[in-house]
This record gives sequence, C-alpha cells and structure tokens, in this order.
Amino acid sequence: MKSLLHRAWARARKPRALDGLRFDRPLLLFQSDDWGRVGVRDHEGCDALRAAGVPLGESPYDFYSFETADDLTALREVLKGHNDSAGRHPAIVMNFVTANVDFARCLASGGHEISLLPLSEGLPDPWTRPRLFEEYRRGIAEGMFFPALHGLTHFCAKAVARELKTDGERGRLVRKLWSAGTPYIHWRMPWIGYEYWDIEAKSDQYLAVEDQQLAIQQAVGLYQKLFNSTPVSACAPGYRSNANTHKAWFDNGIRVAQNGPGGRQAPFLDRRGMLHTFRTVEMEPAVTPCSLESLIGDAEKCFRSGLPAIVSIHSINFHSTIRDFRTLTLALLDQFLSALEMKWPKMLYVHDADLLCIATEGAYLANGRSISVNEINVSAER
Ligand SMILES: [Zn+2]
Repeated sequence: MKSLLHRAWARARKPRALDGLRFDRPLLLFQSDDWGRVGVRDHEGCDALRAAGVPLGESPYDFYSFETADDLTALREVLKGHNDSAGRHPAIVMNFVTANVDFARCLASGGHEISLLPLSEGLPDPWTRPRLFEEYRRGIAEGMFFPALHGLTHFCAKAVARELKTDGERGRLVRKLWSAGTPYIHWRMPWIGYEYWDIEAKSDQYLAVEDQQLAIQQAVGLYQKLFNSTPVSACAPGYRSNANTHKAWFDNGIRVAQNGPGGRQAPFLDRRGMLHTFRTVEMEPAVTPCSLESLIGDAEKCFRSGLPAIVSIHSINFHSTIRDFRTLTLALLDQFLSALEMKWPKMLYVHDADLLCIATEGAYLANGRSISVNEINVSAER
C-alpha cells in the first residue's frame, strides 16, 4: 500500500519539464553552428600564418576556413534530393555569428581594441566570398536553410580585450592571427573563452547579466539587418549559456534555446514558454570519425523513445577551401537521409520553429498543410 501511494505521489509531483516532450512521429532536425564566422583565410592565410611561426596542421580546426557559395550550393543539392512523408526537404538550422573582427581597423588602432564588422555589411578585408550572401538567401527562400542566432562574436570579447591590454605573449598571438586575417583558433588559445563565458574570470565565469543583455541585443539587431527577421532560435557559442542568457534571448524574441550534445535528453518547455532542445546525434566527420551505422543507430534510439533526433553538424564539415571536408560530409549525409527515409517512412524533417509549434500546438505547417504530431507520455514508449 505504502509503495502504491508513494508511486502515485511521485507521478503527481513530477514536473512535466523533467519528463520532457516525446512525440508519436519520428522527427529529424539538424542544428549547425558557426555560420558567418571567418577562420583561417584559405591557402593564403595558411601560408601567412606558417610564415609568422604558427605551425598549422595539428587539429582539423587549423583548417577551419569559411563557407563558400559552392559549399552551400552543394549542400542544397543534397538536401533537394530528399523528401519526408509530408513532401518537405530536410532543413538545416544554421546558427550565425553576426559580426566578424574588422582586422584592418583593429590593427590600425595598434591592435589594442576590438572592432567588429557586421555580417550585414559584408566580410572584413581581405576576405572575399563571391555570391555567398545570395546563396544563404536562396537556401532560406527554398526552406532548406533555417537561420538562427549563434552570437555577436564567438569568443569572449572581455577576455581578448584584457590580453590585448596586458600586451604579453597572448596579445601578440592575437595580433599575429589578425595580421593574417584570422580572428582566432580556439584550441590554440582556449583562454579566449566563449561569448558569454570568461574562462579565467575570478568568480562567476558567466558574464554579468547586463553584459549578456547588451551583447544579445546587438547580435539580434545585426541579425535583423542581415535577414530582415528576428531569430526564433539561438545557441550560445561553446553551448555556454545560463539563466541570464535565456532571459536575454527571450526578451529579444527568441523562443528556442539550443543546448549541446550529452545524453539523450528530451526537449522541454520552461515556465516562460521557451523550448529547450538537446542535440542527440553527433555528425561531425571533419572533426571526429563517425560511421553511417552508428549515426543511424543513434537516430533510431531517439525515434524509438519518441525523442526528436537532433543532429549536431558544425559548419566546418561543409568547408572545402583548405581541406575538403565537404565531400565526405555530403556523401555521409546523403546516405544517412536515404537510410532513414527507407526505414522510417513516417519520418518528418522539421526545424526549430516547427518543433516549437509542435510542442505548443501539436501541429506545424508543411507546404501549407497542417501536420499533426501528438505528444506521448513515457509509458507509451515504443
Ligand atoms: Zn560555435
């Protein structure tokens, strides 16, 4: 009797947020970070860095360059070749960094200040990417790219400003990279932290609430200039977000908070009505070898338990100029989609705004048609 009562009480007090949301249709999403952020400036940048004494080649991120129009065309071609049971192509949620380091202005100031160039105004000298912005917009218009917010910068500006002022070895490395048109290479200088996270801060590593609010407000303003819309979804650089980040996102119109991988966690709606998502499949062939079988297995584990399969796939996987990461990624992506379409004919390709509609209304629009997706409780797991 006691245990029955105990079980009933435990069920009653369990908040829905902890149970998370599970659905009666297999849902597949892709969340992809670092779009719009320049890195090593192709072969020319590699040569300049090597000449300056930075030995490249130890990490794939030494070959993180920047997407080209051709990279995006090739990605669109693969996505176009696939349809879900509602007749829709897969969509990639692309998290954009909305400004780049303005190298010329930074160096003109003696390399002691950080100047940013909004992505809406193009790329900082000497970077060029013909037709890139048209390709972003084409993919968005065709419904295959779903833009979202990553941040204003990827690194913690406070940490970089501190080192520039100190003018030691770290500051010299930053200026060396800037001279070669590269903002930073994270693994070589992890002290730069992430936008809202100052790794070397004495007490709380997360930036103060007002600093986060200002950065997010600026980032959203630049995003609006770039895309003529307000972002619905956001992912903090390095997945470093806290309650202050979520509040600032919400105050700026963002309704989906993306979280990184780690465990198969169900999405949930918080008290504000903000949807929190968790990545459940890691497809990062440029960085970590992954087999087709293991990817399919990870997605199927999600489908079987009613969780959306949320695939993490960073922009580096589509880069091609220094090292061709793109060819392998697109082949893997194509096979992955084909295999899941065949085995899970009721699968739906959705993006973050669709998932928000599903979580709040039980349906979303695909090609003008309302598609119902029902919530299931955990006991109904298949
Ligand atoms: Zn990132």
